[in-house]
Amino acid sequence: MALTGIQIFKLLPKTNCKECGVPTCLAFAMNLASGKAELDSCPYVSDEAKEQLAEASAPPIRPVALGKGVRKTTTGGETVLYRHEKTFFNPTILAATVSSDIDAAELDKTLKIYNAFQYERVGLNLRPELLVVKDAGNGAEAFATVAGKIAKESEFNLVLMTQDIDVMKAGVETAGFKRPLLYAATADNADEMGALAKDNDLPLAVKADSVEALQPLTEKLTGMGLKDLVLDPGSREIKQALEDQVAIRRAALKASNKALGFPTITFPCEMASNLDMETLIAGMMVAKYGGIVVMSDFTSESLFPLLLERLNIYTDPQRPMTVTEGIFEIGNPDENSPVLVTTNFALTYFIVSGEIEASKVPAWLLIKDSEGLSVLTAWAAGKFGGDDVGMFVKKSGIMDKVKHTELIIPGYAAAIAGDIEEELPGWTITVGPREAAHLPAFLKSK
Ligand code: SF4
Repeated sequence: MALTGIQIFKLLPKTNCKECGVPTCLAFAMNLASGKAELDSCPYVSDEAKEQLAEASAPPIRPVALGKGVRKTTTGGETVLYRHEKTFFNPTILAATVSSDIDAAELDKTLKIYNAFQYERVGLNLRPELLVVKDAGNGAEAFATVAGKIAKESEFNLVLMTQDIDVMKAGVETAGFKRPLLYAATADNADEMGALAKDNDLPLAVKADSVEALQPLTEKLTGMGLKDLVLDPGSREIKQALEDQVAIRRAALKASNKALGFPTITFPCEMASNLDMETLIAGMMVAKYGGIVVMSDFTSESLFPLLLERLNIYTDPQRPMTVTEGIFEIGNPDENSPVLVTTNFALTYFIVSGEIEASKVPAWLLIKDSEGLSVLTAWAAGKFGGDDVGMFVKKSGIMDKVKHTELIIPGYAAAIAGDIEEELPGWTITVGPREAAHLPAFLKSK
Protein backbone atom coordinates (compact mmCIF):
# COMPACT_ATOMS: atom_id res chain seq x y z
CA MET A 1 0.00 0.00 0.00
CA ALA A 2 1.17 3.51 -0.73
CA LEU A 3 2.07 5.59 2.32
CA THR A 4 -0.09 8.49 3.45
CA GLY A 5 1.25 12.03 3.72
CA ILE A 6 1.53 11.75 7.51
CA GLN A 7 3.35 8.41 7.28
CA ILE A 8 5.79 9.95 4.83
CA PHE A 9 6.25 13.01 7.07
CA LYS A 10 7.38 10.78 9.93
CA LEU A 11 10.26 9.54 7.75
CA LEU A 12 11.48 13.00 6.70
CA PRO A 13 14.19 15.01 8.57
CA LYS A 14 11.61 17.61 9.78
CA THR A 15 14.08 20.51 9.58
CA ASN A 16 11.90 22.59 7.23
CA CYS A 17 15.03 23.71 5.38
CA LYS A 18 13.00 24.50 2.19
CA GLU A 19 15.62 23.04 -0.17
CA CYS A 20 12.97 20.86 -1.79
CA GLY A 21 11.15 23.97 -2.97
CA VAL A 22 8.28 23.98 -0.44
CA PRO A 23 8.28 25.70 2.97
CA THR A 24 7.93 22.63 5.22
CA CYS A 25 8.65 18.92 5.37
CA LEU A 26 4.91 18.37 5.90
CA ALA A 27 4.04 20.15 2.65
CA PHE A 28 6.69 18.09 0.85
CA ALA A 29 5.24 14.89 2.36
CA MET A 30 1.76 15.79 1.14
CA ASN A 31 3.07 16.54 -2.35
CA LEU A 32 4.96 13.27 -2.41
CA ALA A 33 1.87 11.31 -1.36
CA SER A 34 -0.21 12.87 -4.13
CA GLY A 35 2.47 12.31 -6.77
CA LYS A 36 3.25 16.02 -7.18
CA ALA A 37 6.86 15.81 -5.94
CA GLU A 38 9.92 13.65 -6.58
CA LEU A 39 11.70 12.02 -3.67
CA ASP A 40 15.07 13.15 -5.07
CA SER A 41 14.10 16.77 -4.36
CA CYS A 42 14.96 16.28 -0.68
CA PRO A 43 18.72 15.69 -0.31
CA TYR A 44 18.51 14.76 3.38
CA VAL A 45 16.40 11.58 3.38
CA SER A 46 18.23 8.66 5.01
CA ASP A 47 18.81 5.46 3.04
CA GLU A 48 16.40 3.38 5.10
CA ALA A 49 13.72 6.04 4.84
CA LYS A 50 14.37 6.19 1.10
CA GLU A 51 13.52 2.52 0.70
CA GLN A 52 10.16 2.98 2.38
CA LEU A 53 9.46 6.26 0.66
CA ALA A 54 10.27 4.89 -2.78
CA GLU A 55 7.06 2.91 -2.54
CA ALA A 56 5.03 6.06 -1.98
CA SER A 57 6.53 7.82 -4.96
CA ALA A 58 6.57 4.80 -7.33
CA PRO A 59 3.95 4.64 -10.09
CA PRO A 60 1.12 2.22 -9.20
CA ILE A 61 1.95 0.15 -12.29
CA ARG A 62 5.60 -0.79 -12.37
CA PRO A 63 7.54 0.32 -15.46
CA VAL A 64 9.24 -2.75 -16.94
CA ALA A 65 12.17 -2.26 -19.36
CA LEU A 66 12.45 -4.76 -22.19
CA GLY A 67 15.26 -5.39 -24.62
CA LYS A 68 18.46 -3.68 -25.62
CA GLY A 69 19.57 -1.44 -28.46
CA VAL A 70 17.55 0.94 -30.61
CA ARG A 71 14.28 -0.95 -30.06
CA LYS A 72 14.68 -1.09 -26.31
CA THR A 73 11.42 -0.04 -24.74
CA THR A 74 9.48 0.20 -21.50
CA THR A 75 5.94 -0.88 -20.71
CA GLY A 76 3.82 0.02 -17.68
CA GLY A 77 4.51 3.08 -15.54
CA GLU A 78 0.96 4.37 -16.08
CA THR A 79 -0.68 6.54 -13.48
CA VAL A 80 -4.16 7.28 -14.83
CA LEU A 81 -7.18 5.36 -16.04
CA TYR A 82 -8.13 7.87 -18.71
CA ARG A 83 -5.67 9.63 -20.99
CA HIS A 84 -7.32 13.05 -20.54
CA GLU A 85 -6.66 12.93 -16.77
CA LYS A 86 -2.95 13.43 -17.45
CA THR A 87 -1.30 11.37 -20.17
CA PHE A 88 -0.30 7.78 -20.90
CA PHE A 89 3.45 7.34 -20.70
CA ASN A 90 4.79 4.13 -22.24
CA PRO A 91 3.26 3.15 -25.58
CA THR A 92 1.88 -0.34 -26.11
CA ILE A 93 4.60 -2.59 -27.49
CA LEU A 94 3.69 -4.36 -30.73
CA ALA A 95 4.95 -7.90 -31.33
CA ALA A 96 4.68 -10.58 -34.02
CA THR A 97 5.15 -14.32 -33.60
CA VAL A 98 7.93 -16.45 -35.07
CA SER A 99 7.75 -20.22 -34.59
CA SER A 100 10.88 -22.09 -33.54
CA ASP A 101 10.44 -24.46 -36.51
CA ILE A 102 11.02 -21.70 -39.06
CA ASP A 103 13.98 -22.48 -41.34
CA ALA A 104 16.98 -20.13 -41.53
CA ALA A 105 16.24 -18.80 -45.03
CA GLU A 106 12.61 -18.10 -44.16
CA LEU A 107 13.69 -16.35 -40.95
CA ASP A 108 16.14 -14.16 -42.91
CA LYS A 109 13.35 -13.22 -45.28
CA THR A 110 10.92 -12.52 -42.45
CA LEU A 111 13.39 -10.33 -40.56
CA LYS A 112 14.13 -8.36 -43.71
CA ILE A 113 10.42 -7.74 -44.30
CA TYR A 114 9.71 -6.86 -40.67
CA ASN A 115 12.70 -4.55 -40.48
CA ALA A 116 11.35 -2.56 -43.44
CA PHE A 117 8.18 -1.69 -41.51
CA GLN A 118 9.34 1.74 -40.34
CA TYR A 119 7.37 4.92 -40.93
CA GLU A 120 8.45 8.53 -40.46
CA ARG A 121 5.75 10.67 -38.87
CA VAL A 122 6.01 13.98 -37.01
CA GLY A 123 9.76 13.56 -36.94
CA LEU A 124 9.35 10.17 -35.23
CA ASN A 125 10.26 6.72 -36.44
CA LEU A 126 7.23 4.48 -35.94
CA ARG A 127 8.05 0.78 -35.85
CA PRO A 128 7.25 -2.40 -33.91
CA GLU A 129 9.63 -3.54 -31.20
CA LEU A 130 9.25 -7.22 -30.40
CA LEU A 131 9.23 -10.72 -31.85
CA VAL A 132 7.81 -13.61 -29.88
CA VAL A 133 9.77 -16.83 -30.42
CA LYS A 134 7.20 -19.55 -29.87
CA ASP A 135 8.29 -23.05 -28.98
CA ALA A 136 6.99 -25.40 -31.69
CA GLY A 137 8.06 -28.46 -29.70
CA ASN A 138 11.02 -29.18 -31.97
CA GLY A 139 13.63 -29.11 -29.24
CA ALA A 140 15.74 -26.72 -27.18
CA GLU A 141 18.45 -26.39 -29.81
CA ALA A 142 16.07 -25.23 -32.54
CA PHE A 143 14.42 -22.77 -30.15
CA ALA A 144 17.78 -21.38 -29.04
CA THR A 145 19.01 -21.08 -32.63
CA VAL A 146 16.01 -19.03 -33.77
CA ALA A 147 16.11 -16.84 -30.63
CA GLY A 148 19.85 -16.31 -30.94
CA LYS A 149 19.64 -15.42 -34.63
CA ILE A 150 16.94 -12.81 -34.02
CA ALA A 151 18.84 -11.41 -31.04
CA LYS A 152 22.16 -11.16 -32.85
CA GLU A 153 21.14 -10.32 -36.40
CA SER A 154 18.17 -7.97 -35.97
CA GLU A 155 17.23 -4.88 -34.03
CA PHE A 156 14.15 -6.65 -32.66
CA ASN A 157 13.89 -7.53 -29.01
CA LEU A 158 12.30 -10.77 -27.91
CA VAL A 159 9.74 -12.65 -25.92
CA LEU A 160 10.83 -16.25 -25.34
CA MET A 161 7.65 -18.31 -25.23
CA THR A 162 7.74 -21.83 -23.87
CA GLN A 163 6.47 -23.73 -20.84
CA ASP A 164 9.48 -26.07 -20.92
CA ILE A 165 12.17 -24.88 -18.52
CA ASP A 166 14.98 -26.59 -20.45
CA VAL A 167 13.91 -24.98 -23.71
CA MET A 168 13.71 -21.62 -21.92
CA LYS A 169 17.20 -22.06 -20.48
CA ALA A 170 18.57 -22.74 -23.97
CA GLY A 171 16.85 -19.60 -25.27
CA VAL A 172 18.25 -17.50 -22.44
CA GLU A 173 21.71 -18.83 -23.24
CA THR A 174 21.66 -17.50 -26.81
CA ALA A 175 19.36 -14.47 -26.49
CA GLY A 176 19.59 -13.52 -22.80
CA PHE A 177 22.05 -10.69 -23.55
CA LYS A 178 19.20 -8.80 -25.19
CA ARG A 179 17.02 -8.77 -22.07
CA PRO A 180 14.11 -10.81 -23.45
CA LEU A 181 10.80 -11.26 -21.64
CA LEU A 182 10.38 -14.85 -20.47
CA TYR A 183 6.85 -16.14 -21.11
CA ALA A 184 5.59 -17.50 -18.83
CA ALA A 185 5.58 -18.50 -15.20
CA THR A 186 2.45 -20.49 -14.31
CA ALA A 187 1.23 -22.18 -11.16
CA ASP A 188 3.05 -25.33 -12.33
CA ASN A 189 6.48 -23.90 -13.08
CA ALA A 190 6.68 -20.65 -11.07
CA ASP A 191 9.61 -21.81 -8.93
CA GLU A 192 11.83 -22.78 -11.85
CA MET A 193 10.84 -19.92 -14.17
CA GLY A 194 11.13 -17.46 -11.31
CA ALA A 195 14.62 -18.71 -10.43
CA LEU A 196 15.73 -18.55 -14.09
CA ALA A 197 14.45 -14.97 -14.46
CA LYS A 198 16.02 -13.91 -11.18
CA ASP A 199 19.42 -15.50 -11.86
CA ASN A 200 19.60 -13.78 -15.25
CA ASP A 201 17.97 -10.52 -14.15
CA LEU A 202 15.26 -10.83 -16.82
CA PRO A 203 11.63 -9.71 -16.90
CA LEU A 204 9.10 -12.50 -16.48
CA ALA A 205 5.53 -12.88 -17.73
CA VAL A 206 3.06 -14.51 -15.36
CA LYS A 207 0.12 -16.46 -16.76
CA ALA A 208 -2.97 -17.65 -14.91
CA ASP A 209 -6.54 -18.58 -15.78
CA SER A 210 -8.08 -15.41 -14.36
CA VAL A 211 -7.24 -12.06 -12.82
CA GLU A 212 -7.93 -13.53 -9.37
CA ALA A 213 -5.58 -16.46 -9.99
CA LEU A 214 -2.80 -14.08 -11.03
CA GLN A 215 -2.52 -12.48 -7.61
CA PRO A 216 -1.12 -15.38 -5.54
CA LEU A 217 1.33 -16.07 -8.37
CA THR A 218 2.68 -12.52 -8.53
CA GLU A 219 2.85 -12.42 -4.73
CA LYS A 220 4.87 -15.62 -4.76
CA LEU A 221 7.24 -14.30 -7.44
CA THR A 222 7.74 -10.90 -5.81
CA GLY A 223 8.39 -12.81 -2.60
CA MET A 224 11.22 -14.56 -4.47
CA GLY A 225 12.71 -11.13 -5.20
CA LEU A 226 11.41 -10.66 -8.73
CA LYS A 227 10.36 -7.13 -9.60
CA ASP A 228 9.84 -6.94 -13.35
CA LEU A 229 6.66 -8.91 -14.04
CA VAL A 230 4.19 -8.76 -16.93
CA LEU A 231 0.65 -10.09 -16.46
CA ASP A 232 -1.39 -12.44 -18.64
CA PRO A 233 -4.80 -13.20 -17.13
CA GLY A 234 -5.23 -16.00 -19.69
CA SER A 235 -8.38 -14.67 -21.35
CA ARG A 236 -8.57 -15.46 -25.07
CA GLU A 237 -12.16 -14.39 -25.68
CA ILE A 238 -12.56 -10.76 -26.74
CA LYS A 239 -15.08 -9.54 -24.16
CA GLN A 240 -13.35 -11.27 -21.26
CA ALA A 241 -9.94 -10.08 -22.44
CA LEU A 242 -11.11 -6.46 -22.44
CA GLU A 243 -12.77 -6.83 -19.04
CA ASP A 244 -9.58 -8.30 -17.62
CA GLN A 245 -7.44 -5.45 -18.94
CA VAL A 246 -9.77 -2.90 -17.36
CA ALA A 247 -9.98 -4.87 -14.10
CA ILE A 248 -6.19 -5.06 -13.78
CA ARG A 249 -5.73 -1.34 -14.51
CA ARG A 250 -8.47 -0.36 -12.07
CA ALA A 251 -7.17 -2.67 -9.34
CA ALA A 252 -3.67 -1.20 -9.61
CA LEU A 253 -4.75 2.43 -9.81
CA LYS A 254 -7.90 2.65 -7.75
CA ALA A 255 -7.39 -0.09 -5.16
CA SER A 256 -3.56 0.19 -4.95
CA ASN A 257 -3.42 -3.57 -5.49
CA LYS A 258 0.33 -4.19 -5.63
CA ALA A 259 -0.14 -7.80 -6.80
CA LEU A 260 -1.68 -6.42 -10.02
CA GLY A 261 0.54 -3.34 -10.33
CA PHE A 262 2.33 -4.56 -13.45
CA PRO A 263 1.93 -4.08 -17.21
CA THR A 264 0.04 -6.69 -19.24
CA ILE A 265 0.60 -8.85 -22.31
CA THR A 266 -2.31 -9.71 -24.61
CA PHE A 267 -2.67 -12.12 -27.53
CA PRO A 268 -5.02 -11.00 -30.33
CA CYS A 269 -3.27 -13.72 -32.38
CA GLU A 270 -5.04 -16.30 -30.20
CA MET A 271 -8.43 -14.58 -30.31
CA ALA A 272 -9.04 -14.42 -34.06
CA SER A 273 -8.79 -16.60 -37.13
CA ASN A 274 -7.49 -13.94 -39.51
CA LEU A 275 -5.19 -10.93 -39.37
CA ASP A 276 -7.96 -8.39 -40.04
CA MET A 277 -9.81 -9.46 -36.90
CA GLU A 278 -6.55 -9.64 -34.96
CA THR A 279 -5.85 -6.06 -35.99
CA LEU A 280 -9.25 -4.89 -34.74
CA ILE A 281 -8.70 -6.61 -31.41
CA ALA A 282 -5.18 -5.21 -31.21
CA GLY A 283 -6.61 -1.72 -31.82
CA MET A 284 -8.89 -2.23 -28.82
CA MET A 285 -5.97 -3.42 -26.69
CA VAL A 286 -3.81 -0.45 -27.66
CA ALA A 287 -6.61 1.79 -26.35
CA LYS A 288 -7.34 -0.29 -23.21
CA TYR A 289 -4.78 -1.21 -21.73
CA GLY A 290 -2.44 -3.72 -23.35
CA GLY A 291 1.19 -3.28 -22.40
CA ILE A 292 2.37 -5.75 -25.05
CA VAL A 293 0.11 -6.80 -27.92
CA VAL A 294 1.09 -9.97 -29.75
CA MET A 295 0.03 -10.49 -33.37
CA SER A 296 0.55 -13.60 -35.50
CA ASP A 297 2.26 -11.55 -38.23
CA PHE A 298 3.18 -8.04 -39.30
CA THR A 299 1.84 -6.68 -42.57
CA SER A 300 1.94 -3.02 -43.50
CA GLU A 301 -1.85 -2.69 -43.78
CA SER A 302 -2.27 -4.11 -40.27
CA LEU A 303 0.72 -2.52 -38.58
CA PHE A 304 0.54 1.04 -39.91
CA PRO A 305 -2.91 1.87 -38.48
CA LEU A 306 -1.91 0.34 -35.15
CA LEU A 307 1.25 2.43 -35.02
CA LEU A 308 -0.74 5.57 -35.81
CA GLU A 309 -3.36 4.73 -33.19
CA ARG A 310 -0.61 4.15 -30.66
CA LEU A 311 1.05 7.44 -31.57
CA ASN A 312 -2.18 9.34 -31.04
CA ILE A 313 -3.14 7.68 -27.78
CA TYR A 314 0.30 7.97 -26.23
CA THR A 315 0.87 11.65 -26.93
CA ASP A 316 0.36 14.17 -24.15
CA PRO A 317 -3.14 15.61 -24.64
CA GLN A 318 -2.02 18.85 -23.00
CA ARG A 319 0.71 19.45 -25.58
CA PRO A 320 -0.15 19.76 -29.27
CA MET A 321 1.93 17.64 -31.61
CA THR A 322 4.39 19.73 -33.52
CA VAL A 323 7.02 19.47 -36.22
CA THR A 324 10.37 21.24 -36.08
CA GLU A 325 10.62 24.76 -37.45
CA GLY A 326 12.59 24.88 -40.70
CA ILE A 327 12.61 24.30 -44.44
CA PHE A 328 11.08 21.08 -45.78
CA GLU A 329 11.84 19.95 -49.33
CA ILE A 330 8.97 18.28 -51.14
CA GLY A 331 9.71 16.51 -54.43
CA ASN A 332 13.29 17.75 -55.07
CA PRO A 333 12.60 21.48 -55.44
CA ASP A 334 15.06 23.80 -57.20
CA GLU A 335 15.71 27.53 -57.26
CA ASN A 336 12.55 28.19 -59.27
CA SER A 337 10.22 26.10 -57.13
CA PRO A 338 7.41 27.79 -55.20
CA VAL A 339 7.90 28.66 -51.53
CA LEU A 340 4.98 28.14 -49.13
CA VAL A 341 4.79 28.89 -45.43
CA THR A 342 2.53 27.48 -42.71
CA THR A 343 2.48 26.69 -38.97
CA ASN A 344 4.13 23.82 -37.08
CA PHE A 345 0.94 22.07 -35.90
CA ALA A 346 1.67 18.49 -36.93
CA LEU A 347 -1.72 17.94 -38.53
CA THR A 348 -1.35 21.14 -40.57
CA TYR A 349 2.08 20.02 -41.72
CA PHE A 350 0.88 16.56 -42.74
CA ILE A 351 -2.14 17.82 -44.63
CA VAL A 352 -0.28 20.62 -46.42
CA SER A 353 2.79 18.53 -47.28
CA GLY A 354 0.55 15.67 -48.42
CA GLU A 355 -1.38 17.94 -50.79
CA ILE A 356 1.84 19.45 -52.18
CA GLU A 357 3.17 15.94 -52.76
CA ALA A 358 -0.08 14.99 -54.47
CA SER A 359 0.24 18.01 -56.78
CA LYS A 360 3.58 16.65 -58.08
CA VAL A 361 4.85 20.24 -58.10
CA PRO A 362 8.24 20.30 -56.30
CA ALA A 363 8.13 22.97 -53.59
CA TRP A 364 9.80 24.44 -50.52
CA LEU A 365 7.59 24.32 -47.43
CA LEU A 366 8.59 26.67 -44.62
CA ILE A 367 7.34 25.61 -41.21
CA LYS A 368 7.20 28.39 -38.65
CA ASP A 369 7.03 27.63 -34.93
CA SER A 370 3.53 28.60 -33.79
CA GLU A 371 3.59 26.55 -30.57
CA GLY A 372 1.66 23.78 -32.28
CA LEU A 373 -1.36 25.90 -33.25
CA SER A 374 -3.15 25.65 -36.58
CA VAL A 375 -3.07 28.64 -38.95
CA LEU A 376 -6.25 30.44 -37.93
CA THR A 377 -5.72 29.84 -34.20
CA ALA A 378 -2.06 30.85 -34.41
CA TRP A 379 -2.96 34.04 -36.26
CA ALA A 380 -5.68 34.88 -33.69
CA ALA A 381 -3.25 34.18 -30.84
CA GLY A 382 -0.55 36.39 -32.32
CA LYS A 383 1.76 33.44 -33.09
CA PHE A 384 1.59 33.80 -36.87
CA GLY A 385 1.72 37.57 -37.39
CA GLY A 386 3.09 39.28 -40.50
CA ASP A 387 6.22 40.63 -38.77
CA ASP A 388 7.05 37.22 -37.27
CA VAL A 389 6.53 35.37 -40.51
CA GLY A 390 8.60 37.94 -42.44
CA MET A 391 11.49 37.69 -39.95
CA PHE A 392 11.28 33.92 -39.97
CA VAL A 393 11.52 33.83 -43.78
CA LYS A 394 14.61 36.04 -43.64
CA LYS A 395 16.45 33.90 -41.11
CA SER A 396 15.24 30.55 -42.49
CA GLY A 397 17.87 30.49 -45.23
CA ILE A 398 15.34 30.08 -48.04
CA MET A 399 16.75 33.12 -49.81
CA ASP A 400 19.94 31.16 -50.50
CA LYS A 401 17.95 28.35 -52.08
CA VAL A 402 15.68 30.19 -54.54
CA LYS A 403 16.21 32.99 -57.02
CA HIS A 404 12.63 34.24 -57.09
CA THR A 405 10.91 36.37 -54.45
CA GLU A 406 7.40 35.01 -54.12
CA LEU A 407 5.98 33.62 -50.86
CA ILE A 408 2.68 31.74 -50.76
CA ILE A 409 0.83 32.12 -47.45
CA PRO A 410 -2.24 30.20 -46.21
CA GLY A 411 -5.61 31.61 -47.28
CA TYR A 412 -6.70 31.82 -43.63
CA ALA A 413 -3.78 34.18 -42.96
CA ALA A 414 -4.58 36.60 -45.81
CA ALA A 415 -4.74 39.47 -43.31
CA ILE A 416 -0.99 39.30 -42.64
CA ALA A 417 0.07 39.72 -46.29
CA GLY A 418 0.64 43.49 -45.94
CA ASP A 419 2.79 43.14 -42.82
CA ILE A 420 4.93 40.46 -44.45
CA GLU A 421 5.49 42.71 -47.48
CA GLU A 422 6.76 45.44 -45.15
CA GLU A 423 9.13 42.99 -43.49
CA LEU A 424 10.23 41.51 -46.84
CA PRO A 425 10.57 44.46 -49.23
CA GLY A 426 10.66 43.38 -52.87
CA TRP A 427 8.84 40.11 -52.21
CA THR A 428 5.47 39.26 -53.66
CA ILE A 429 3.12 37.76 -51.09
CA THR A 430 0.56 35.51 -52.72
CA VAL A 431 -2.46 34.35 -50.76
CA GLY A 432 -2.96 30.64 -51.30
CA PRO A 433 -6.19 28.67 -50.89
CA ARG A 434 -7.89 28.42 -47.52
CA GLU A 435 -8.29 24.67 -47.75
CA ALA A 436 -5.22 22.50 -48.25
CA ALA A 437 -7.29 20.27 -50.54
CA HIS A 438 -7.23 23.08 -53.11
CA LEU A 439 -3.43 23.32 -53.11
CA PRO A 440 -2.77 20.88 -55.99
CA ALA A 441 -4.97 22.82 -58.40
CA PHE A 442 -3.51 26.11 -57.12
CA LEU A 443 0.11 24.98 -57.58
CA LYS A 444 -0.50 23.45 -60.99
CA SER A 445 -2.13 26.66 -62.21
CA LYS A 446 0.94 28.73 -61.32
FE1 SF4 B 1 12.20 18.87 4.70
FE2 SF4 B 1 13.84 17.70 2.96
FE3 SF4 B 1 12.22 19.65 2.14
FE4 SF4 B 1 14.27 20.20 3.76
S1 SF4 B 1 14.40 19.43 1.66
S2 SF4 B 1 12.15 20.95 3.92
S3 SF4 B 1 14.35 18.37 4.99
S4 SF4 B 1 11.61 17.68 2.92
